[in-house]
Amino acid sequence: MARGAGRPAKSGKSSARGEHSPAMQQFFRAKEQYPDALLFFRMGDFYELFHDDAVVAARALDLVLTSRQKNDEGVDIPMCGVPHHAATGYLARLLEKGFKVAICEQMVDPRTVKGIVPREVVRVVTPGLALDPDTLDARADNLLGVLVSSGAEHALASLELTRADLAVCSLRSPSELLGELVRLELREVLVVGDDAMRGIVERALPRARVVAASAVADPLGRIREQLGDAEATRAASLTELARQAVAVAIAAARESQPRAPLGVRTIASYDPTAFLGMDDAAIRNLELVRTLSGEREGSLLALIDESSTSMGARVLRRRLLSPLADVAAIRRRHDAVESLVLDPPLRREVRARLARVSDLERLATRAELDVATPRDLGSLASGLRAADELCTLGTEGDALSGLRRADVVADVCEELERILVEAPPHVATQGGLIRDRVDARIDELRTLATSSKDVLLALEGRERAGSGIAGLEVRFNRVFGYYFEITRTNLARVPKHFRRKQTIANGERFTTDELDELADKILGAEDRARSLEQGVFEELRRSVGKQASRIRALGGVIADLDVHAALAELAQKRSYHRPTVDDSLVIELDDSRHPIVEALAPEGTVVPNDVRVDADGERLLVITGPNMAGKSTLMRQTALCVILAQAGSFVPAARARIGLVDRIYTRVGASDNLGRGQSTFMVEMRETATLCAGATRRSLVLLDEIGRGTSTFDGLAIAWAVAEHLDGIIGCRALFATHYHELCALEALREGRVANYNVAAREQPGKDGTPTDVVFLHRLVRGAAKSSYGVVVARLAGLPEGVLARARQVLADLERGGSDARRATSQMGLFAGKEAPKTRTPIEEALVGIDLDRLTPLEALNLIAKLKSMAR
Ligand code: ADP
Repeated sequence: MARGAGRPAKSGKSSARGEHSPAMQQFFRAKEQYPDALLFFRMGDFYELFHDDAVVAARALDLVLTSRQKNDEGVDIPMCGVPHHAATGYLARLLEKGFKVAICEQMVDPRTVKGIVPREVVRVVTPGLALDPDTLDARADNLLGVLVSSGAEHALASLELTRADLAVCSLRSPSELLGELVRLELREVLVVGDDAMRGIVERALPRARVVAASAVADPLGRIREQLGDAEATRAASLTELARQAVAVAIAAARESQPRAPLGVRTIASYDPTAFLGMDDAAIRNLELVRTLSGEREGSLLALIDESSTSMGARVLRRRLLSPLADVAAIRRRHDAVESLVLDPPLRREVRARLARVSDLERLATRAELDVATPRDLGSLASGLRAADELCTLGTEGDALSGLRRADVVADVCEELERILVEAPPHVATQGGLIRDRVDARIDELRTLATSSKDVLLALEGRERAGSGIAGLEVRFNRVFGYYFEITRTNLARVPKHFRRKQTIANGERFTTDELDELADKILGAEDRARSLEQGVFEELRRSVGKQASRIRALGGVIADLDVHAALAELAQKRSYHRPTVDDSLVIELDDSRHPIVEALAPEGTVVPNDVRVDADGERLLVITGPNMAGKSTLMRQTALCVILAQAGSFVPAARARIGLVDRIYTRVGASDNLGRGQSTFMVEMRETATLCAGATRRSLVLLDEIGRGTSTFDGLAIAWAVAEHLDGIIGCRALFATHYHELCALEALREGRVANYNVAAREQPGKDGTPTDVVFLHRLVRGAAKSSYGVVVARLAGLPEGVLARARQVLADLERGGSDARRATSQMGLFAGKEAPKTRTPIEEALVGIDLDRLTPLEALNLIAKLKSMAR
């Protein structure tokens, strides 16, 4: 609920003329510490924002801006506020918009102090350091990155606060850096130094908060201070840039949790090239976790995610973005999946038990960082119980060998269940969270409150009998406490010893000495019990927090199991098969399908295809065929099979053998990147440059047409040279889809290494008297395509029949030797450019240069008109 316009501004208790009230002085002190954050300043049941913060937040959150009188001169301070019980929702929206928020709390119950309530900033939240489930995606990591660069060298630290996981890597080129940024999908990046770098990161991660940060003076000292001597000694072997990145990440986490311990214990240093490498273009173009338009739905991950827990979903996402490049490790994953594929009853049992496991990792971290609510601990308890039950399956199969019942987990679980009630409330301050017989003092106060309530009932009975008012009742509300309520019709019979408390619409409220005394006893007891309950809860939370890393470790084992069970489920559901992954240089797929095309297409309409490519043999496949035949689908499915296999999944093929791939490069899709200031051709060439420079013999390269954004001969020349480079210099596995049928000549020139394939289409007599129609068979077959069927496909696209008829005529003419056209254009001399070879007429030239993929009907019409005038 947003602050209503009618809510009166609080009157500031201004001390002297022109000076601020003590509360405002607290505000200014806190604000000074966190000048770049919006300050949520707790006052009673609200978080208030003042001054510029108020103006900014009111706009961002659609709140009504009110004001608070500043001083005796009556100068107003802009102000707005959000109710504290609804604060997480507002916080989530601010984080979504990339704000940093400092939360300043009342450090004691205002009722217990006279004068000013002490206040302190207890948490500073930024998108990358969020902890509230409301502000997090349960099924994806939430990472803060720190980038430190020096020339071509970069270090990238990444912190997952909810898992207390801190990692760092070094990157040696801009493309490695971009790949890593996109792979981690950082929610926030602190860029140390270099302003230009910030722009690059912003463009690579349009959804992230990207801000400049300053370097830390003594990085190793900072690491030692937080993580201890042993970790500092290990950190000494990191590069200077990496140490700096880690130290800045630690400093940010520290600032975010000034009062709680930092869950992080170790620094994981990793080598990004140890995984199957994918640059940003590949991750995007292959739509691994998002579609090209940025949606999750429709991505590969959305399709394959059969996980039962959010921990499993996060691991699956991580695996898909970081497939392995180690044969033995990949096979271990396949073994685990296979054992669950082969044992459906066990898989069902495991998945049923998994479904009851809560997010142990994030809940444990919330306990460790002192932000867990009673409800969080309740769900941790039930999650641990479910995890323990899952662990009892441990001896029953290969896939479960990692599961072991852990005493410490059972202990934590028992402790939680012994102390907390069955379904604990959301807040810790309102009581009702601790069981009876946990704390003798609480029990005593509860008995006192209950027995006093009995006395209260007796009193009510006595007064009812004495006064003769049948409806006389003791009632309670939070503002007035206990009272007798008497309706207007009975007011004449009110006893003498009743004191009037309040008049209401249809009667009056009274109290008596006896009632006051009892009320004090009851309320006092309840109050004390509540604060004791809160104390017991906080101690419980601390004690659970101490076991956080053990609970997270158990969470990790369960998440892996979840992923294996999910992939087994997927394999069974969609008929995926176990791939053989080895050290060879082949990719052999029998009856492979594109997972998403298959999932979306009506049952039985997808045409499975065989793919064979071998760096030691036919390594470069030149794939021709009409538009819409399925060339790009085929190339993508080959890459997706490799990624799925190396991520540890079965693949959408009847049989698959995959010689380990070290990197996948893609040059697919022709999306302009104008937002990033690059034309289609520039993007194309940049991607081509990256792959020419980075691919090795173990790489897989996909080229979906290159050189289209320039003149035909330029384009063909570049495509030809790139093909030669891939085959002759790199010698990697490559699939090259193209409309330049000239490239098919490479097969003969490079026999045994370059092979022509086409995605078949069949001509058939057209309906309504048109010469030919094309039927797409979607089948990959050996040999070059006969034709691009451009005119036929243009017809499918709805080009006017008149234009098509003329185009057919012109085409036939050209194929015959182009007498008409040649004569006409030679007279005109229009297109006789320098680069045109003697064998082609200007009209042929113009036709070859048409990009049918982009031609609008109107452009086509104009073109035909032009051709016609040339012919005349
Ligand atoms: P191209 O790259 O040759 O222009 P695409 O790969 O984009 O063609 O495929 C065109 C359409 O054909 C897509 O909508 C796709 O869903 C469908 N398609 C591709 N391959 C197959 C297949 N093997 N079976 C069924 N439909 C397919």
